[in-house]
Amino acid sequence: MVDAHQTFVIVGGGLAGAKAAETLRAEGFTGRVILICDERDHPYERPPLSKGYLLGKDERDSVFIHEPAFYAQARIELHLGQPAVHLDPAARTVRLGDGTLIAYDKLLLATGAEPRRLDVPGTGLAGVHHLRRLAHAERLRGVLASLGRDNGHLVIAGAGWIGLEVAAAARTYGAEVTLVEPEPTPLHGILGPELGTLFTDLHRDHGVRFHFGARLTEITGQDGVVTAVRTDDGTEIPAHDVLAAIGAAPRTALAEQAGLDVVDRADGGGIAVDAGLRTSDPYIYAAGDAAAADHPLLDARLRVEHWANALNGGPAAARAMLGQDVSYDRVPYFFSDQYDLGMEYSGYAPPGSYDQVVCRGDVAKREFIAFWLREGRVLAGMNVNVWDVAGQIQQLIRAAAPLDTEKLADPGVPLESLLP
Ligand SMILES: Cc1cc2nc3c(=O)[nH]c(=O)nc-3n(C[C@H](O)[C@H](O)[C@H](O)COP(=O)(O)OP(=O)(O)OC[C@H]3O[C@@H](n4cnc5c(N)ncnc54)[C@H](O)[C@@H]3O)c2cc1C
Repeated sequence: MVDAHQTFVIVGGGLAGAKAAETLRAEGFTGRVILICDERDHPYERPPLSKGYLLGKDERDSVFIHEPAFYAQARIELHLGQPAVHLDPAARTVRLGDGTLIAYDKLLLATGAEPRRLDVPGTGLAGVHHLRRLAHAERLRGVLASLGRDNGHLVIAGAGWIGLEVAAAARTYGAEVTLVEPEPTPLHGILGPELGTLFTDLHRDHGVRFHFGARLTEITGQDGVVTAVRTDDGTEIPAHDVLAAIGAAPRTALAEQAGLDVVDRADGGGIAVDAGLRTSDPYIYAAGDAAAADHPLLDARLRVEHWANALNGGPAAARAMLGQDVSYDRVPYFFSDQYDLGMEYSGYAPPGSYDQVVCRGDVAKREFIAFWLREGRVLAGMNVNVWDVAGQIQQLIRAAAPLDTEKLADPGVPLESLLP
């Protein structure tokens, strides 16, 4: 039984941290809950920052995870605008930027990730942007609106999810957009070449230009302001603004300083945790984008940088902190919206892991499900403008049974009938 006099501290007030705090109370924890975040805003969701909020469709209030009053009502002590700068696992204390020392009985690191920076000349010019925080989205929204008005040109480095979603938003504002991507298709490392072309075609249909097979090597400017980018194949592309969307790096500095096990950057990085989301220190847990967890179902250590993993992983870590037996085995899941295309992806099938891709439905109309298989077993599935099937896809992944691929490809055969 957890003692009512205990103090549980959460570092990081994103989705994982805020949901963990909520769960501690929902599970009946009566001790102190302290949530520390270096951002000044109350905990918020990031997906709208590249979609509805960036497009000016969503109200600012709609991005927050809880009403501001929730924290006081739930007796969650918020330290906003305060970084945790030092962690002492032996003394079980964490020190904040203003010098405040907080003792904990259990600690959750939900420190998330930060955008990778372009390592090229010219990143200090006005007009170079990143997108992670609410303030970034607010700045970018103004930039896209003025590019749209003035027929301006946005160059985006990286055709990953954020690059593509911002490209869609920028086109909606009327800006010219070029995406520079070293791989031959968007999302190459996630969807492979077979399905990456879906997004090439979608964006070309909306007027986006792609520059594949090249890396950005320099951003050039005049009077301190961006005027063009150069790529390693010798191309110069005029630009008024540049978005660096080349991925995110887990924020592991505190864990490293405290001597916790951290996964090598080459292997995806992240704070190493077991299936119960516990780090190499028995009193410290980690969840969300920052954590690389042993995945019981996939038999691999995985760092999942997606909304659903923060939404479910934060609460799972909270339950583990309360002494419950937790084995976090959710099938990785994410979603994206671009123009009129909505999709969900479940599972894990990087290039090299699958030997077949099977589609059911109308690929040309962009209404279909794609399955990635190995030896007839579903590793991952992506439903595109087809809804209420993610649960069944995840069941097929969990079942890990060889399937009749002709039936899998046939929309007339219900997916549930394929379950063993
Ligand atoms: C623009 C954008 C769009 C996205 N869209 C999608 C989508 O469509 N679908 C999807 O599945 N996923 C999407 N994601 C990913 C999803 O938002 C993340 O997976 C999720 O935010 C991770 O939550 P988290 O709580 O682990 O980390 P974060 O949200 O990064 O929160 C961590 C918090 O901890 C703070 N922090 C870090 N270190 C310290 C410290 N030492 N002291 C105090 N505070 C600290 C950070 O500033 C941050 O506020 C998107 C992400 C972005 C940026």
